[in-house]
Amino acid sequence: MIGVSILGSTGSIGTSTLDVIARHPDRFRVVALTANTDVDALFAQVERFRPEVAAMRDERCASELENRVKDAGLTTAVLAGEQGLIECAQHGEAHTVVAAIVGAAGLHSTLAAVDAGKRMLLANKEALVMAGPMFLARARAGGSEIIPLDSEHNAIFQCFPQGNIAGEAQRTPASRGIRKILLTGSGGPFLDTELRLLERVTPDQACAHPRWKMGRKISVDSATMMNKGLEVIEAHLLFGVPTELVQVVIHPQSTIHSLVQYADGSTLAQLGNPDMRIPIANALGHPERIDSGVADLDIFECARFDFIEPDFERFPCIRYAYDASDAGGTAPAVLNASNEVAVGAFLDGAIRFTEIARVIDSCLSSIDAREATSLDDVLDADREARALARERVEKAHI
Ligand code: NAD
Ligand code: MG
Repeated sequence: MIGVSILGSTGSIGTSTLDVIARHPDRFRVVALTANTDVDALFAQVERFRPEVAAMRDERCASELENRVKDAGLTTAVLAGEQGLIECAQHGEAHTVVAAIVGAAGLHSTLAAVDAGKRMLLANKEALVMAGPMFLARARAGGSEIIPLDSEHNAIFQCFPQGNIAGEAQRTPASRGIRKILLTGSGGPFLDTELRLLERVTPDQACAHPRWKMGRKISVDSATMMNKGLEVIEAHLLFGVPTELVQVVIHPQSTIHSLVQYADGSTLAQLGNPDMRIPIANALGHPERIDSGVADLDIFECARFDFIEPDFERFPCIRYAYDASDAGGTAPAVLNASNEVAVGAFLDGAIRFTEIARVIDSCLSSIDAREATSLDDVLDADREARALARERVEKAHI
């Protein structure tokens, strides 16, 4: 039995992971579950999956959960706060840890899991983007194997020679025969919206993704295509390929989840219905193939594939991500933090959709990239960028 700990189990990725796990009771055992504040959802998962431990970030919610667990006569131990999340990430019976907390809030627990040498199923791309090469160095030092859950990166992982991940950075792409990574994205809900109308789009419109059902933060990231920008940096880090060899391609059907081009002229792609249970099952079962619950792709239904080059005027966030990656050091942490603040403000109705990119641009141009030699350097940059982004948000008018 493989023990699994899920950080962020009540979210979109967390619940899809539990859906796959529930199909394989002989293979996986849920050891730990965590959530932020949703006591009802976490309690229902505890009742069903009976983990050893459950943790809530919010202390008050944790004591409420603890009372409910005791009243129900369950033996799950309940922990609280960041330390609780870290204990779930490092639990002795967890072989695999699913990092599915959204944003920088997942950084410490995700790092704790790689330090403990867990097999890391990584959805929380923000943690990797922020900490960058340091994240990978800690994974190598801890003996942690990283398997990407992000659908594009999982697709690339499947198209790469086995074992060719997180640690291959020492070998050049050319020596591995890799010419280019084509990172696909649907283009989100505003691919064809008239540019002048983008000022007025609402959070609900931004979250109505045409292909994927996801949490609200990543849905807005998909609408601005910052999600693809973060994914360019994620691909660069995970696969040891410079960002200029990672090309963003808009593919509205979301059937091809990314492609890799090789020196011999071969282009390898991974296809499937747009359902996160496919990459999740791939990563959970790796190297075996296990049932995900997703229907087979009907190739006659999806006979047509469109590919479009992204327009950086419509989607400036993609360019900011390339620039931040080139600047290196703390710049990706500034990109991520200012984006988190701006997206939160947009979801709260405090700024317009088009102001998200302006806030990020202004933070990136005002805060110089510094070397990131320690985690404190990254956390300082994160704090500085959040403070400046909040200032910019206050000055923006709705
Ligand atoms: P979500 O909002 O649906 O779920 C987030 C989870 O994190 C919840 O369990 C929540 O309780 C927990 N959480 C939120 N804030 C927290 C905090 N401050 N402290 C501790 N826990 C906290 O998000 P999601 O869509 O499942 O995305 C999760 C991660 O996976 C993100 O990094 C996202 O970019 C990535 N991802 C998601 C998808 C998708 O299809 N949803 C696809 C690829 C990558
Ligand atoms: Mg993705």
